[in-house]
Amino acid sequence: MRWILTVRYEFDASHFLPNFEGPCRNLHGHRWTVELEVEVKELDKSGVGIDFGILKKELESLGLDHTHLNDILPYPPSAENVARYIYQRIKEKGYKVISVRVWETPKYAAKYVED
Ligand SMILES: [Zn+2]
Repeated sequence: MRWILTVRYEFDASHFLPNFEGPCRNLHGHRWTVELEVEVKELDKSGVGIDFGILKKELESLGLDHTHLNDILPYPPSAENVARYIYQRIKEKGYKVISVRVWETPKYAAKYVED
């Protein structure tokens, strides 16, 4: 028995992709939307796996809002790598992360999973 909880979180940040052939090569910003999926196998006596508010605070605590992502990520901050970065940081906190999907625009997203 298991549940998968999803929390959506938005933040504003700038980035550029130095080696990209296209407009994302230049400095610009996005309102990034993150969808974090975490697995739980037990519920507390109130029927809750993990308080959604705690997961939201964990995402906020990564400190990505109003930053320049090139200064934070150790690799080029594409949507793919922003998803990987968030996945690994939340996993380090002890959560069983299933996936992290990052929307760079309303139409374009990258989802990171590990086998
Ligand atoms: Zn971009």
